[in-house]
Amino acid sequence: MLEILRRLVQAVTDAATLDEALTIIVTRIKDTMQTGVCSVYLLDESTDRWLLMATDGLNPDSVRLASLARTEGLVGTVGSRGELVNLDDAPNHPAFRFLRETGEEIFQSFLGVPIVHQREILGVLVVQQTTQRKFSDEEEALLVTVAAQISALIAHAKVSGRLHLSQTTGEKPTDVHFKGVAGIGGVATGTAFVRQPPAILRRVKDAKTDQPELELGEFHIALSEVKAELRQISDSLSEHLARKETALFDTYLRMLEDHTLSGEVCQRIRSGETATTALKYVVLDLVARFEAMDDTYLKERATDLLDLGRRILAKLLHEQSEALEYPDDVILIAEDVTPVMLGEVVTKSLKAIVSIKGSANSHVAILARGLGIPAVMGAVDLPLSDISGAYLIVDGWRGELIVEPSEHVLAEYQRAIDDAAILEMDLEQVEPGAAITEDGARVHLMLNAGPFGDLSDRQRSFIDGVGLYRTEFIFLARSRFPTEDEQESEYRAELETYAPMPVVMRTLDIGGDKSLPYFSIEEENPFLGWRGIRVTLDHPEIFLTQIRAMLRANSGSGNLRILLPMITTLEELRASRVLIERVVLELRAEGISVTKPEVGVMIEVPSAVYLAPELATEADFLSVGSNDLTQYLLAVDRTNARVADIFDGFHPAVLRALKITSTAGVNANIPVALCGEMAGDPLAAVLLVGLGFNELSMSSAALASVKRALGAFHLRECRQLATKALASESGKNVLRIVGHAFMEKQLHLLVPPNLRESFVMEVS
Ligand code: PEP
Ligand code: MG
Repeated sequence: MLEILRRLVQAVTDAATLDEALTIIVTRIKDTMQTGVCSVYLLDESTDRWLLMATDGLNPDSVRLASLARTEGLVGTVGSRGELVNLDDAPNHPAFRFLRETGEEIFQSFLGVPIVHQREILGVLVVQQTTQRKFSDEEEALLVTVAAQISALIAHAKVSGRLHLSQTTGEKPTDVHFKGVAGIGGVATGTAFVRQPPAILRRVKDAKTDQPELELGEFHIALSEVKAELRQISDSLSEHLARKETALFDTYLRMLEDHTLSGEVCQRIRSGETATTALKYVVLDLVARFEAMDDTYLKERATDLLDLGRRILAKLLHEQSEALEYPDDVILIAEDVTPVMLGEVVTKSLKAIVSIKGSANSHVAILARGLGIPAVMGAVDLPLSDISGAYLIVDGWRGELIVEPSEHVLAEYQRAIDDAAILEMDLEQVEPGAAITEDGARVHLMLNAGPFGDLSDRQRSFIDGVGLYRTEFIFLARSRFPTEDEQESEYRAELETYAPMPVVMRTLDIGGDKSLPYFSIEEENPFLGWRGIRVTLDHPEIFLTQIRAMLRANSGSGNLRILLPMITTLEELRASRVLIERVVLELRAEGISVTKPEVGVMIEVPSAVYLAPELATEADFLSVGSNDLTQYLLAVDRTNARVADIFDGFHPAVLRALKITSTAGVNANIPVALCGEMAGDPLAAVLLVGLGFNELSMSSAALASVKRALGAFHLRECRQLATKALASESGKNVLRIVGHAFMEKQLHLLVPPNLRESFVMEVS
């Protein structure tokens, strides 16, 4: 059975068109189940009818002609209810509807199952038999299994097929929607430019050379040409981005200079391989090693390496990349958009990016955020070969594209584009200075610092310090643990940049989706495994070195606060404190003057929420990691796109956990901060203040909008909203309550467009 299914799925995957895929499905199922008929009906959205798309057994001339209204007939019953129907005497069922053109009067028994993809009913799969008999449980189970297996394939084939179909009939397709994952918020329109990778390494044929010196020379020329190109791209990007953001290109240059890549290529050339062959093997091997890593950050490095390898190959093959002709308003689309691809086009009015692979956390998305352009990632169903040159709307809020939008849809979106521009101008007017509520209550806005993002002077005036410095980036960017001195110099730079404001440095937080290439952690369930403080307490040598580096770095500025990630027990806090204490004494004994830093606990697992009162009496501050807390409270993997809809910081359960935490902090008279993504969402920020948080830590891009929102609310109003939200039954309700309050305050531009629209629809 499994084998039959596997072969069926494979055949459907390989099919060139939707029609071919559906024909394969009906013929194979009819054969396997030995029935008289197998047919597929798909919902035709333009007519809102179930259209017969393929059949084996009914009159083939009725394909694409015979159809049923949404609730009509047995097919309509299955399709509208989303439930299986199994009948031995179909013609006598009240819902039976006779379709003369299909010749189906001779069939007595009927089994229909819905084809459902992501809760959407795409169609109905039907088998019929001339004899009057009920299909068995096994037959039901088989058809349900087949329908579930093929639903994603049909969804994919259907969207590609729609484009094909319309092109061949000469009709202009309009408003074709594709779903991806929300990358960077914002809406843009423009022309699709599909960027093919520069050259394909896997296509290089193995070859030998008896002139290795010549090949070495060519390789070095190609390498320096790519380096020169990278420098040029980096320079042109630096006109638009902060230095820290373009530092990524320095990393690329280092990758090219790194002995692992060029050294190994040269060695293989010397042993008789041509430059292209040697390059292929070295790059693909390195890529495979990076891809095998669990960590998303390091997986991204595989993409970068592959891109660099292809660029060198293109030079070796003398392929011209300069010949690319970009349209005026570019929507850059690729299987895997790389930062270099983005750099090539940026000065030529890049409007948005769309990537089939990648996530909102990838570097290219971070660069796009810096450039202020929307991005849709993970658009897996997008048919790259059909899309080039099409006019598109990219909706980075919803993670959606609309191909060839109709005038009506375009007008709707144009309003969103205009609104975004107005909001940007409005946020530029936000006065410098700290954030206060309308009635003057001070809210400490803090910065989530990382390897990216310099602050402008105005942004710096908004903040009261760094609320989260993720030290793991220093560890991830190396091929071994950084030494104490290396760490010390990184930490010192960060502490001095923000002194005298406090800087919260989190101790190494690896495990989960972050593992080091030189310290691999392989687990079945990494998010429930060896993570954060669990790792560093088991490896005191790593922890002690890091604390020594932090305390030494702090000797001049004195603004360090230490934060412990993934605390689940009081013992972990106590054990960490003992080690920190030990370092203080050790350094003092060495004659280095150090002050005892404040030590805080991250509240990011449910046990820490319930222990918050005890933790608060022993810690100097609390800081909620709402990304992980939401993940663990709602049991939803924060990196899994399939359940991304369930990940909801507004969920009342999350808010109630936040309330318990803030109350514990307030009772113990210590600061309570929140440093997850929620803090940077203006709607959430107002609620958080109402829940009792007095420090919100966020990325630099969020500061102005959060300050703007807080300035429009009285503290009393924030608290009233929080009370209502805590009593709500769903995240949706909470969002509506807060969204409504924003609309009343004329802050509608800060409300996500889809929520805003729902309010407008209610009024009209
Ligand atoms: C969090 O979990 O909310 C957090 C701030 O930490 P990270 O995202 O680095 O896990
Ligand atoms: Mg976390």
